[in-house]
Amino acid sequence: MEAMVRAYVGLGSNLDDPLNQLRQALRELDGLARVRLAAVSSLYRSTPMGPADQPDYLNAVAALDTSLDADGLLVLLQGIEEFHHRVRGMHWGPRTLDLDLLLYGDQCIDTEHLRVPHQGLQERNFVLYPLAEIAPPGLVVPGQGPLAELLARCPETGLERLEEALP
Ligand code: ADP
Ligand code: MG
Repeated sequence: MEAMVRAYVGLGSNLDDPLNQLRQALRELDGLARVRLAAVSSLYRSTPMGPADQPDYLNAVAALDTSLDADGLLVLLQGIEEFHHRVRGMHWGPRTLDLDLLLYGDQCIDTEHLRVPHQGLQERNFVLYPLAEIAPPGLVVPGQGPLAELLARCPETGLERLEEALP
């Protein structure tokens, strides 16, 4: 048996029926070879970062167990983004689906194509709050500190937890 690594992926969408985009993306993640969907957070609504003249986002975080390396997982995440017809346009502009590799085990990775923990993790309430729902108590974000401390420093402004079930 190959070693499995627990990875966390942030999902976001603000175009073309975002709830459906996220639901479909979760099914696609679970369907990947060498990936098992272990947990999914609640659904959240957040106000956009960057350009404000775009719809609110729906966000969630998924926990995956995978035997892929981080680069291999990123390539598959990008494949799913493409499949959702994401057009890379304006920086922080609207998107049908954004999949970010937030954490990959306890690794710190800094290459041209991949930075883990994901940059901005500690400032983004729409990442930290859903992550905290499904992360083990006491999780330490490599290079950044205990998740509980990051949360305590990150206001919930603009973030709303929705009752709607995701998967
Ligand atoms: P953001 O998610 O910050 O709004 P994008 O999704 O447009 O921005 O950024 C995609 C780029 O970020 C890709 O070219 C990818 O190589 C790079 N990238 C670096 N680290 C990561 C990561 N941890 N997860 C996803 N993409 C990453
Ligand atoms: Mg992204």
